[in-house]
Amino acid sequence: MPLAADTTVGVVGAGTMGAGIAQLAAVRGHRVVLSDAIPAALDRAKAAIAKSLARAVEKGKLSADEADAAAARIAYVPGIGEAEWARFTDCGLVIEAIIEDLTLKKAVLTTLERVVAPDAVLGTNTSSLSIAALGAGCKSPGRVVGIHFFNPAPVMPLVEIVGGLATDPDLVDAVRAFIDGWGKTTVVAADTPGFIVNRVARPFYGESLRIAEEGIADFATIDWAMREIGGFKMGPFELMDFIGNDVNYAVTCSVFEGMYYDSRYRPALTQRRLVEAGRLGRKSGRGYYDYHDGAERPAPTEDQTVGKRIVDRVLAMLINEAVDALYLRVASAADLDLAMTAGVNYPRGLLAWGDDLGVRTVLQRISMLQDEYGEDRYRPSPLLRRLAKEARRILA
Ligand code: NAD
Repeated sequence: MPLAADTTVGVVGAGTMGAGIAQLAAVRGHRVVLSDAIPAALDRAKAAIAKSLARAVEKGKLSADEADAAAARIAYVPGIGEAEWARFTDCGLVIEAIIEDLTLKKAVLTTLERVVAPDAVLGTNTSSLSIAALGAGCKSPGRVVGIHFFNPAPVMPLVEIVGGLATDPDLVDAVRAFIDGWGKTTVVAADTPGFIVNRVARPFYGESLRIAEEGIADFATIDWAMREIGGFKMGPFELMDFIGNDVNYAVTCSVFEGMYYDSRYRPALTQRRLVEAGRLGRKSGRGYYDYHDGAERPAPTEDQTVGKRIVDRVLAMLINEAVDALYLRVASAADLDLAMTAGVNYPRGLLAWGDDLGVRTVLQRISMLQDEYGEDRYRPSPLLRRLAKEARRILA
């Protein structure tokens, strides 16, 4: 039984994500084999896991004994020679979490396939590569599946489960049930660029950047509007600074490229210039805002009318994107809304929000933008048009 409750879990790549996934599996009672090409990465992972477990104890989420037992379940395997790969032989599930490189990831999966049992599951934590491409080198691509955790993996509830063209459909369900058992909130996404969250969330950043570029409002005012009027936990610019502009920009570029340069996903020059200048956000001390000691945050212009227009525009684009993802069967309606609330803390699921606003209102807002700008970026989803025409709701 590859996904038995007591199966040994392998993790290849002990960076930010690999360390987090290894910790999670160990806390859930699995023996874990964690390897990395660079021995120092394993030392860092061990220290990071110890720190994270100590924090969980402090917060009362684990007892000290449970934390010690979890730490003891992880075997650290430095290097990637034959002897190291042999350590994965007994794993019923191995998740690769190495750097985002198609050739390297394919090599890891094909090597793993040689050492694990024929029915062992091969998972990949890729954010942007296609599961079809990753599985293509394997003799049995049916057992290759996307298991996309969010950072930090032990804390973030959402996991996107992604089947590629050749993935056994039953396996997607089995992996979903298995990861549910780890206490995660799982959703199933089609093998499409950005899966659910990294696709549907794009207008939150992109349309806000566009509004700033047009000079309709400054960063602080847009952030204020999205927080105070829209009900989002963070505004788009403070969130991009938090994520890192380099990381956020790379995701946008990869979705844009993956969608054959559909203008709806076009990256913003404003963000590109920030990345080029090294203004990556909090981690570099400066992004849209200055984070150095003593720096003052610019005050927003708290103008309700302007604020409402900003929220209406960004929200219409977000809802249109979510409806289009439903139309193109990226995920079920329930999973689309679950992903955005559990995954990125949106105050409401976008489809439910669209129903509350009214499909016709959303269509009208998008159509007005399309009329005003004449850009394909503002095209309404065919499903939005159809629902409006038939006076139907998005959620049945
Ligand atoms: P990272 O750079 O922190 O870690 C990658 C690790 O892989 C490094 O320790 C590196 O030494 C190791 N590695 C590289 N090549 C290897 C090989 N051939 N064999 C074994 N180890 C190898 O990266 P990360 O942020 O942990 O991301 C890992 C994966 O998870 C990527 O696919 C990324 O797209 C995805 N992801 C990242 C995040 C995030 O927020 N960081 C979120 C979701 C998914």
